[in-house]
Amino acid sequence: MAVPLLDLAAHHAPLQAELLAAIEAVFRTQAFVLGPQVAKLEERIASYCQTRHAIGVSSGTDALLIALMALDIGPGDEVITSPYSFFATAGAVARVGAKPVLVDIDPETFNIDPNKIEPAITPRTKAIIPVHLYGQCADMEPIMGLAMRHRLAVIEDAAQAIGAEYRDGRRAGSIGTIGCFSFFPSKNLGCLGDGGMVTTSDPELAERLTVLRVHGSKPKYFHKLIGGNFRLDTIQAAVLNVKLNYLDGWTRRRQENAERYAQFFEQSGLLKEGSVRLPPAVYRSSGRKHHHIYNQFVLRVQKRDELMAHLKNEGIGAEIYYPVPFHLQECFTYLGYREGDFPESERAAKETIAIPIYPELSKEQQAQVVQAIGGFYSRNDQ
Ligand SMILES: *Cc1c(COP(=O)(O)O)cnc(C)c1O
Repeated sequence: MAVPLLDLAAHHAPLQAELLAAIEAVFRTQAFVLGPQVAKLEERIASYCQTRHAIGVSSGTDALLIALMALDIGPGDEVITSPYSFFATAGAVARVGAKPVLVDIDPETFNIDPNKIEPAITPRTKAIIPVHLYGQCADMEPIMGLAMRHRLAVIEDAAQAIGAEYRDGRRAGSIGTIGCFSFFPSKNLGCLGDGGMVTTSDPELAERLTVLRVHGSKPKYFHKLIGGNFRLDTIQAAVLNVKLNYLDGWTRRRQENAERYAQFFEQSGLLKEGSVRLPPAVYRSSGRKHHHIYNQFVLRVQKRDELMAHLKNEGIGAEIYYPVPFHLQECFTYLGYREGDFPESERAAKETIAIPIYPELSKEQQAQVVQAIGGFYSRNDQ
């Protein structure tokens, strides 16, 4: 039996009646833009993410874009971020006309290495965008310290990390100046299309974000700012208001799956022989059991590309997040980076592979995934 990387049909099947009823309720009102469903979701997400405000937007990409616009970042400004993330993180910086300045990752967590940030700060630096990659927070304490000393804004790219907690229990999106979330269907809280959210506890920024979302218009047809159409669809908000009720349960299942993988890989002997390394969950010091929400479960492996081909043959879903770091992307050649500039990001791009971790994944399916990986290495040892 094939094991997909993500099974949206299995995810939505038990909710189908509830989701269709929520969509139908919006349809009955014929009011498809903003309104009470969006306002309700914003209130609930703000509370879930421990911030005072949340503003629904059209996608995670647009969340990053509108955050940069709200902070008035543009041509002549520099923004520090990681080379190892989904394209939107650096793409948004370039789209507002600012320069992405890259800083290598910590090989343990795959998140930006705080020790390498300070040398990259210049008088033109305006913000840092740490990415909470795969569902685990970047090391925010030293990042916030640097931001304070150098008067920089911090935009958390929390697209993969809704509900993830930092060392002290603070949630992703509540630590920096602005948090950015995505409701793309593959995220832990996904809608039925595109959607996103920005979070902040700064009332002035919340107001700017709200106005920028509707072309900078306030009152209607009077524009103090140049914004865009960055609205979250009412139907998507209604869907998310249903799905949010289940998010904690899904996250627990992902965490249980991560624990089970740890057991299965331990038993397989693959860890001892060094073919496979598990993703570490690093923030356990405060006594809480879990901080990582496992949007992805990403292994570091030997012979990655061959393993990838083998899993494909065996019908096991796997993916590479991400095969090319930003500094080696064709569209960013103008930044002047070269191969070798960010060795940890380059190594991660060559050694990592994501395997299925979704909430509906069964114990048997997990055993099958580990068996397929074990089969590959035992064959390759002969
Ligand atoms: C998914 C994602 C985004 C973009 O979100 P969309 O909703 O797809 O636009 C941005 N950053 C990261 C790290 C992501 O994983």
